[in-house]
Amino acid sequence: MDIPLALAWIREIAAAVEREQARLTELDSAIGDGDHGSNLSRGFTAVLPALDALAPASVGAVLTKVGTTLISRVGGASGPLYGSAFRAMGKELPGERATTAELGEALAAGLAALRELGGAAPGDKTIVDAWAPAVAAFTAAADHPGADHPAADLPAAAKAAADAAAHGAEATTALQARKGRASYLGPRSIGHQDPGATSTALVFQALATVTA
Ligand code: ADP
Ligand code: MG
Repeated sequence: MDIPLALAWIREIAAAVEREQARLTELDSAIGDGDHGSNLSRGFTAVLPALDALAPASVGAVLTKVGTTLISRVGGASGPLYGSAFRAMGKELPGERATTAELGEALAAGLAALRELGGAAPGDKTIVDAWAPAVAAFTAAADHPGADHPAADLPAAAKAAADAAAHGAEATTALQARKGRASYLGPRSIGHQDPGATSTALVFQALATVTA
């Protein structure tokens, strides 16, 4: 990944959030307070001009700017959580380009940061339920690049991560929420897909889209 690809990834996330804003809000209306789509829209609407003004010197500078902007602009739980994840990823990528393995380590650092801040474990019906399988799939795919096409390992890893995140998000429907607002519903949170896991699937689908 180089700086232009990092910028393309973030712009694709912002576009996906706009396209899916209504669905994210609808999911959050069922088991939360109905603001997940507007929270992320507000955040990424602020991210775009912040990146335009940046002239980043590293891949990490792009991701760090995303993180700090989300933390300062989004009031809901998801802003600090996504913000810390992007900031932690940014810290891992100080160069002008990152190998697929380095990007995998950064995605893992993002997961560690959001788990540390939110205290959620896999199965708690949160962002973690999409992000954790995405990291595992990305790392597994990056560790086994196609032998004859080693340069193709980023698209393959990103596609594997996107599929795993989407599957993880769908699997949250059957879970009872143990963190965040949805946990107040107890067993009544079962039967609804988690909004945050759903937006995490968009983050990883965007990576697959721009690397394909
Ligand atoms: P709020 O809950 O403050 O309204 P959002 O609606 O923007 O914030 O985000 C809700 C999403 O945040 C949930 O669907 C869930 O995926 C995620 N979330 C909430 N609490 C946590 C947590 N402690 N750890 C990880 N993710 C969480
Ligand atoms: Mg909400």
